[in-house]
Amino acid sequence: MNVTVIGTGYVGLVTGACLADAGNAVFCLDLNQEKIRSLNEGRIPIYEPGLEPIVRRNRDAGRLAFSTDVAAGVAHGELQLIAVDTPPGEDGSADLRQVLAAAQAIGRHMKSWKLVATKSTVPVGTADRIKLAIEKESAVAFAVVSNPEFLKEGAAVEDFMRPDRVIIGAEDARAVALLRQLYAPFQRNRERVIVMSVRSAELTKYAANAMLASRISFMNEIANLAEALGADVEEVRRGVGSDPRIGYQFLYSGAGFGGSCFPKDVKALQKTAAEAGRPLRVLAAVEQVNEAQKHVLGDKIRARFGSLSARTFALWGLAFKANTDDMREAPSRTLIADLIGAGAAVRAYDPAAGREARRLFEGNGSVRILDSAMAALEGADALAVVTEWQEFRSPDFAAIKAKLKTPAIFDGRNLYDPAVLKSAGFEYFPIGRKT
Ligand code: NAD
Repeated sequence: MNVTVIGTGYVGLVTGACLADAGNAVFCLDLNQEKIRSLNEGRIPIYEPGLEPIVRRNRDAGRLAFSTDVAAGVAHGELQLIAVDTPPGEDGSADLRQVLAAAQAIGRHMKSWKLVATKSTVPVGTADRIKLAIEKESAVAFAVVSNPEFLKEGAAVEDFMRPDRVIIGAEDARAVALLRQLYAPFQRNRERVIVMSVRSAELTKYAANAMLASRISFMNEIANLAEALGADVEEVRRGVGSDPRIGYQFLYSGAGFGGSCFPKDVKALQKTAAEAGRPLRVLAAVEQVNEAQKHVLGDKIRARFGSLSARTFALWGLAFKANTDDMREAPSRTLIADLIGAGAAVRAYDPAAGREARRLFEGNGSVRILDSAMAALEGADALAVVTEWQEFRSPDFAAIKAKLKTPAIFDGRNLYDPAVLKSAGFEYFPIGRKT
C-alpha cells in the first residue's frame, strides 16, 4: 500500500519504518527541515532501540522516503496517517493546531479518495473537526477514522510490530477493510483489531493513559504512607500485584510520572470532561499527587543536608524513563530545578538523553552533563538516581562510595536493596521503603 505518515516524531517515524518493513511504500512527511535532512543523511533524530536498522534497511530498499514536500506527500498515500504532536495548550486542552494544519494540507492537495487516520492522541470530536477542515479545502471524497497509537517509547518498535490491540474507530466499511489489511502483518497469530465508533476510539486512548497514570499516583501515595507507617512499599507491591485482578504491571512507586503523554493526556481528558459537565475528580487528584511526587527526591535531599548552597549532587538518569532520550516533563527536570533553586550544582549523566539535556541546560552554569555515570560523581556530595536505566541497577558501590563526599544515595526508582546498601556503608533514601 502507499502510505503517507504526516509528522515524523517518536510515533510517526516508528510507524513509517515498521509499515515500510512490512512491504508498504511509505512517505514520511515533516515540516522540520533539520529532521528530514538528518533522516535523509541516514541519521535517526531520536533514540529508540531497534529503530535504526529498520529505517536504514527500508530507506535503502526504496520503501521509505523522508520529505518536507507537502503536495508530494499528500499525492503519495491512499492512506494518510496523521502523527503530529498534540501538546498541551495553556488551559490544559490538547493543542490541535498541527492536526488541523495537517488536515488542511490533505484537503488542499488531494486529487483522489483518501483514508485519513489519526494516530495522534486527540480529544473526542476531533475527527469531526478534521472532516470539516478537509471539506473546506476540497470536494474530493475521503474518510476520516481514529486509529490511536499505543506504542511505548523505549519499546516502540516491539510494540508496533506486536501490538496488544489495534483500535479502529470508523463508520466507513472501506476504511475498516483498508486498515485491517494494513495491520494484518502485525497480528499473525490472532486478530487484535477492535473496531468501534470514532468517538469511543478517541476516548479509549485517553482512558487507557489516564488509568495507567492513576495506578502510578495511587502507588506513590501508598509509598508515602508506607514511609510514614514503617511499612515497605516493595513488599506491599508484591502482595497487591499477586491479585490477578490487579497484576504486577505499572505498580511501581517513584519520583512521579513524566513524558510526552501521561501528563498532557491527564490534563486534556480533564478539560474534555469539564467541558462536558462531567468533571473527572479522580484525575484531578492523580495530577495533584504527581506534581507533589516530582518534588519528593528534592525534599529528601533538603531534609538530609539542610542548606544546599555550595553543595553538588550527581544525577543518574535524565530521560523520563529508561530506553528513551525523551525528557519532556521528566521528573529529573523538577529535581534539577529544585536543587539549583536551592543553590546547589548538578552533575548529570544519562545513557541516551545527554544531547537533549545539553540543549535544555545550555548556558546554565549550575548544570553539567557528563559522559559517564562515574564522571558525574566527581566532587559530588551525594547521588540521586532518577531513571531506571539497566546500567544503574548493579553499579560498583565501592567505587561510588570512594567518589562521593557523603555516602548517600537518593533513589527515585527503588533500584537497590536497602540491606545491601546498608552493609556497603551507605545512607539510602528510596521511595516508600523501609531502610
Ligand atoms: P513528536 O513531537 O515526537 O513528533 C511530532 C512530529 O510532527 C514532529 O517531528 C513535528 O515536526 C511534526 N509536525 C508537526 N506539525 C506538522 C505538520 N503540520 N505537518 C508535518 N509534520 C508536522 O511527537 P510524538 O511523541 O511522536 O507524538 C505524536 C502524537 O502521538 C501525539 O499526539 C502523542 O500524544 C501521540 N502518542 C505519542 C506516543 C509516544 O510515546 N511518544 C505514544 C502514543 C501516542
